[in-house]
Amino acid sequence: MRKLDTRTIVVASHNAGKIREIRDLIGPLGFEAKSAADLNFVEPDETGTTFEENAAIKALASAKAAGLPALSDDSGLVIDALGGAPGVYTANWAEKEDGSRDFAMAMDKVEKALSEKGATTPAGRTARFVSVLCLAWPDGHTEMFRGEIDGTVVWPPRGSQGFGYDPVFQPEGHAVTFGEMSAEQKHGWKPGQAQALSHRARAFKRFVETCLDA
Ligand code: IMP
Repeated sequence: MRKLDTRTIVVASHNAGKIREIRDLIGPLGFEAKSAADLNFVEPDETGTTFEENAAIKALASAKAAGLPALSDDSGLVIDALGGAPGVYTANWAEKEDGSRDFAMAMDKVEKALSEKGATTPAGRTARFVSVLCLAWPDGHTEMFRGEIDGTVVWPPRGSQGFGYDPVFQPEGHAVTFGEMSAEQKHGWKPGQAQALSHRARAFKRFVETCLDA
């Protein structure tokens, strides 16, 4: 396992919600985090069929362009009744013809697909959010960290915090959706703490334990 020995890294993302969450998580550790969006890097095509492949594509593109270590996140919502969909295609389900993203439309699509399967009870609507973080160096070395959180897909959407599909995901053991949680509640983690809640915070905790001497 390679340790991270710089204090400046690139957050290899163009997704404002993800960049905010990764900055929230990494900020208290004393890192300066520039995003691929701030640096005007071209967004690479996510041609992989796994979270790991897509995370590596994004992190390597930013690390090579910046000459600095880069941390990417490839994530998605995996719904059991839909055979794991939308999965690695979670962002695509929100894409409109003009290329913009509409998550209200995406959540509607998920709900229609679940209704077609007759998935109306919480037990029939189990799902998990998955996040794979990839830390890549300009020489091509990569380290991967996976985090998952089980829950159920609720309808109608609840809450306006967070981003993406947060209003329809209720994590196991909680009575509120990610959309109804503050960022601190959704992460459920601070440096040094044993527990984390969100998929991204769980993956991030593994990154900290493996690549930082924090
Ligand atoms: P990608 O990793 O860029 O392929 O996109 C993942 C997509 O999954 C995002 O666009 C979001 O729609 C969704 N997603 C990932 N993590 C979260 C989360 O924490 N909350 C809500 N939606 C998420």
